[in-house]
Amino acid sequence: MTSFDPLVTLAYLCSGVCFILSLRSLASPVSARKGNFIGIIGMTIAILTTLIASPLDTARLFAIALALALGGTVGAVIALRIAITALPQLVAAFHSLVGLAATLVAFVALKSPQSLNITLNPGSLLEMAAGAIIGAFTFSGSIIAFGKLQGLIPSKPFLFPLHYTLCAILTALMIASLILFSINVNPTLFFLSFTIIATLLGILLIVPIGGADMPVVVSMLNSYSGWAACGIGFTIANPALIITGSLVGASGAILSYIMCKAMNRSFISVILGGFGGETSTASASQNINDSQKTIRQGSADDAAFLLNNASEVIIVPGYGMAVAQAQHALRAISDLLKSRNIRVRYAIHPVAGRMPGHMNVLLAEADIPYEDVLELDEINRDFPSTDVTLVIGANDITNPAANDDPSSPIYGMPILNVEKSSQVVFIKRSMSSGYAGVDNTLFFRDNTMMLFGDAKDACDNIMRGLEAL
Ligand code: NDP
Repeated sequence: MTSFDPLVTLAYLCSGVCFILSLRSLASPVSARKGNFIGIIGMTIAILTTLIASPLDTARLFAIALALALGGTVGAVIALRIAITALPQLVAAFHSLVGLAATLVAFVALKSPQSLNITLNPGSLLEMAAGAIIGAFTFSGSIIAFGKLQGLIPSKPFLFPLHYTLCAILTALMIASLILFSINVNPTLFFLSFTIIATLLGILLIVPIGGADMPVVVSMLNSYSGWAACGIGFTIANPALIITGSLVGASGAILSYIMCKAMNRSFISVILGGFGGETSTASASQNINDSQKTIRQGSADDAAFLLNNASEVIIVPGYGMAVAQAQHALRAISDLLKSRNIRVRYAIHPVAGRMPGHMNVLLAEADIPYEDVLELDEINRDFPSTDVTLVIGANDITNPAANDDPSSPIYGMPILNVEKSSQVVFIKRSMSSGYAGVDNTLFFRDNTMMLFGDAKDACDNIMRGLEAL
């Protein structure tokens, strides 16, 4: 059988439909579990079809089974042990493997086309080159992104003199290698040449990007890894790879767009780098003048008192809630408040935490009803009529500087207008800034009460305070 056997094509089509339905279901927490399950079915169909359709001897089948068992075990162990706050770097690490796989498959297709049952022509050479270049770029770029997010290399933007000139020269050399490769001049040499240059470019173009933009970069690299797989899918004439590659490529691009929009960053400014470095922190600190620098600090009992006397409460979770795993303690507080006829809702910013949907997953894990969880557009107008807003481990997504300070690096980013509620209770451990490295002017406002401490401990203490009232 070949990849274009009607039955094989039909099976690949079924797996493609499963992936599309899976993505559709993953769009809502209500159907996300179902989406995961449909995705697993699609992948199982794709793998089984590939195994059945390929003429494999026992030795190769054994090698594939071993690889599947090893990869599956490592994947399962990582999935069980990973902290959800570390998901961006995990995704980056996985994408580096997708990029590497695409490049290696392209090399095998070049050196041994008969083993993949294909014949090479100028068109397939170009597809192969595209897959290898994007794959190599994704491989090294994702390793740098992983290193920055994991704290293994400094997350500050890093540029050396003539950085972009060197990038331009390397790009020109890569294009020259690509042209010589596609007209069949010493293909192995020029394949290696553009692959090595693409690997260098992956490093050089990701290193200048600051840690604050890194999750967007991870999402872009996710998209690139999809296009790399898609290119290789064309080379080896595998419809499943073409479909999944395009789905990953397109969804990664859409996700990057959503993240850029939610942070009011343009795609180009992310690529050019420089955000999240020392300059943005310094300029933001200067924006808070000394007369504003008094804060009102309160205790968990004070917070409990405020909450108990409210009719309308909005809870704004952020990265710190995820770190402290405070979602269950938060749920206990909202249940108690609701039992006292206080309306409690949750406001989710699109980039709260470190990945879109980060907060939704945690709140769903604590069985917080979906109808209580509202997106920025749905709830922002309700803050002026809210008695108490409880901000828990969130910072940048509430910073009014985004609305009223044109010199702030986050100016223009849509934020949750929590400062408009009558009282704001801020749970965090210190006065330190958030991910963007920008001081938050909200801490110094008259209607803000700071409650310092770990988010989970603070929630437990508030709960005790509420029970005592
Ligand atoms: P921030 O990073 O702005 O703030 C989190 C706050 O949590 C910190 O100020 C920290 O203060 C506090 N914190 C940390 N640990 C704890 C703890 N154990 N208990 C209590 N508080 C804690 O998070 P936000 O969610 O407000 O904003 C997300 C940021 O990430 C934005 O800048 C966004 O642009 C960025 N980002 C998000 C992406 C996404 O897709 N979600 C993608 C790209 C970037 P302290 O140390 O004082 O406790």
